[in-house]
Formats: sequence, structure tokens, C-alpha cells
Amino acid sequence: MEKSVKYDVVIVGAGPAGAFLGYSLACHGVKVLIIDRKIFPRYKPCGGGLTRRALSELPFDISQVVEDYTFTANMLFQNKLLFTRTFDQPIIGMVMRDRFDQFLVEKAVSKGVVFQDDTDFKSLSGNPGDLWVETSRGTVNARVIAGADGVNSQVAKALGLVIGTHVMAAIEGEVYFQDSDLIEKYKGAVHFDFGVISEGYGWVFPKKDHLSMGLVTLSGRLKNWRAGFESYLNLKQLNTYADIKPLKGHLVPFRSNKRNLFATPGGLIVGDASGFTDPLTGEGIFYALKGAHIASCVILDCLESGYDGMTEFSALIKKAFLGDLIRANRLSFLLYKFPRVSVSVLKAFGEVLCENQVEVIAGEQTYGELYNKVFNPLKVLSIMFKR
Ligand SMILES: Cc1cc2nc3c(=O)[nH]c(=O)nc-3n(C[C@H](O)[C@H](O)[C@H](O)COP(=O)(O)OP(=O)(O)OC[C@H]3O[C@@H](n4cnc5c(N)ncnc54)[C@H](O)[C@@H]3O)c2cc1C
Repeated sequence: MEKSVKYDVVIVGAGPAGAFLGYSLACHGVKVLIIDRKIFPRYKPCGGGLTRRALSELPFDISQVVEDYTFTANMLFQNKLLFTRTFDQPIIGMVMRDRFDQFLVEKAVSKGVVFQDDTDFKSLSGNPGDLWVETSRGTVNARVIAGADGVNSQVAKALGLVIGTHVMAAIEGEVYFQDSDLIEKYKGAVHFDFGVISEGYGWVFPKKDHLSMGLVTLSGRLKNWRAGFESYLNLKQLNTYADIKPLKGHLVPFRSNKRNLFATPGGLIVGDASGFTDPLTGEGIFYALKGAHIASCVILDCLESGYDGMTEFSALIKKAFLGDLIRANRLSFLLYKFPRVSVSVLKAFGEVLCENQVEVIAGEQTYGELYNKVFNPLKVLSIMFKR
């Protein structure tokens, strides 16, 4: 890497947060370098479910990397259908993260971003506006640094930001079958399975030639996760698989502490690095993309009018996400901490909850509105009396 080149912004991490931030800045003529420690395209354990609200954050068409559009949501308890609902518009676009992330990086590069993969972030020195970013391939100069380096962000630490979050533990396997009819059977629908793991759920997401299956738990610990995954396959009668590639675990940060700060005059952090994901579902890509959009506006302002304004980012991102996620946290607490109660709740309110949840992931209502609508005592009584 050329030490003599000065970048306006160096972004560490080329997941959705980093690549989309790079794209958004480069669209305004900002000189950006994105580095990632992995060789791209790279596998990332992820359901690859892009909700309608995530899709609407992107200003370009991504259909070439969408493997399936799902219109039907199925909710099950121990593989018994609680209810099913088909919507007029797709709820989720299914992607494989290696292709999707590579596609976003190429979009960024097409706008002038320099991308360097296989490059690890090492350390940060200098002053706001004149930073030295040490990487495994040399040191570069930048005016601003952005950490999009996921959970346990090294850039957050280098900026002196202490990010308090809880973590969910999740595993994901790409499951292949000889019998292509079996995959066809799952096309167009998402399956959320409750009662298959404590404090969480299992999912089956259809892809072009296989099923992405996984388990997530808010407890942050997955004991005997391979055995747990096998029993999930058995329960779903999907144990006739031909191959699983790869079965990997990963952490999902959530419940970002309300005292967290996400920026200093030197730089900011976005995506999983900031700990914003949906505590009900583990959805993180929407928050990564929306956070990147807000970050790009703040960075553009600061490149023009001074770096002290960078700290505005913390307030803006909290305003965008925190209030709503506090409601979502309460819902996730009710759903996952009291499994017996939550089955009754799902049986009684599953359909109402599903309809409302789809409105949330479509970006048509907030968790605050869902909470008030569904858990409002008058509403609860009216639903009970209708039954
Ligand atoms: C099993 C599982 C299933 C999930 N399913 C979904 C889903 O269906 N839908 C959804 O919306 N969300 C899902 N999520 C959450 C989603 O994957 C994340 O929220 C999302 O990837 C966050 O994007 P990001 O760009 O912030 O970070 P990441 O995608 O994690 O990207 C961070 C990048 O930074 C790089 N990096 C890290 N450290 C360094 C370093 N020191 N130097 C250089 N590069 C570095 C990494 O290599 C990586 O490429 C799931 C998560 C898991 C674990």
C-alpha cells in the first residue's frame, strides 16, 4: 500500500456496513480506502435474509444476487405449525453473503473506492484530520477512520470507544440435498421454529440450490452446538442431507448500551461494531446499512467543516435506533425468557404478531407502534374476546 497516498476516509471491514459506507462517500467524490482482513469473496455465517426495510436502504437493484424472494412466513413450535401467512409482496430477499458483500464492494469500487482485501487493521495513531492507520500491508494516512469491523471491533478500541452490548450466539449451515424437490418445497417461504433451542429459535431460509439453516440463542452460549444442529435437522426431517458446508458459529451483538458512544473527532464505528441488531430476530443488515447512511452524512459534513462534529454521530444513531430497540428488547425478553408463556402468547397472538412483525421488517411501522398496538391492554382484551 502506498504510504504517500492520503485518503479522506479509511474504512476497516468490507461487510454491508463498510462497503455501503464506502459507496455512499465515494458517490460524493470522497477518496476512500476499504480494507478487509479476509480474501474476498469470503463466506460469512449469516442467514442472508434481507428484509424489505433493508432492501429499501439500497439505492440500486440487487436482484442479480438474490437467490429467492420469500412471501410466506411460517411459525412453528417444535415443528408443529402455529400458523402461516402469505403476503402480497416479498417479506425477505435471500442472499448468500459472499456474493452479496462482493457485489456491494464492486459497487463501491465502481464509484472510485480503493479496496484492499487480505489486509488486517493493526493500530491507529495521529490526530483527527491527520491519522496514521497501520495495517498488515503498511501504513496509510487518512483524515477520518471508520470501523466497520464487526463484533469485537478493533477500531472501536483504537478510538478509545468502549461498546457495551449483550451477545447472541448463532450457528449457520448451508445444507445441500440430492433431492431437489425438497429444496423446491421450501422456496418462497421462511420457517421460524420456536421450542428448538432455549432463549432463541431455529430458521430455514431457502437459497437457489440449498437451504440455509441455523440456530440462535440470546443466552450467548451454544452448548454442544453440532449435536444441537443435528437434532434440529432430525426434528425437521431434513437429516437426509448430502452435505453441510460449512457449519460455523458466530456472535451477534445486541442491546447496545444507551451510554455507548460511537464516535470521536478521529472517527466512528458502524454496523455490528456498534452493537445494533434486532433483539427479536438477530437482523443486523438493516442496521448496518442505515447506520452507514447516517455515518456518510456526518463524515461528509466533517470533511467540510471540522472534525469535532463527528461526535454528533452518537446522538444521531441513538435517535435513529435506540428508542425503538428498547421496545424490541422488551418483546424479546417476553418471548425468549419465558418459553411456556411465549408458546401461549404465540398461539393466541401469533397471527397478529406476525402481521405486525412483517410491517416492522417492511419498514411500515416501528417496534414502538407494534408494542403499543399489540400489548395495549384494550387491544389484548379485544383479541381475547374475538376468540
Ligand atoms: C448465524 C448468523 C445469521 C444471521 N442472519 C442474519 C439475517 O438473516 N439477516 C440479517 O439482517 N442479519 C443477520 N445476521 C447478522 C448480520 O450477519 C450482521 O449484523 C452483519 O453482517 C453486520 O454487518 P457489518 O458490516 O457490520 O459486519 P460484518 O458483516 O461482520 O463485516 C465485518 C468485516 O470486517 C472484517 N474485519 C474484522 N476485523 C478486521 C480487522 N482487524 N482488519 C480488517 N478487517 C477486519 C471482517 O473480515 C468482515 O468482513 C446474522 C448473524 C449470524 C451470526
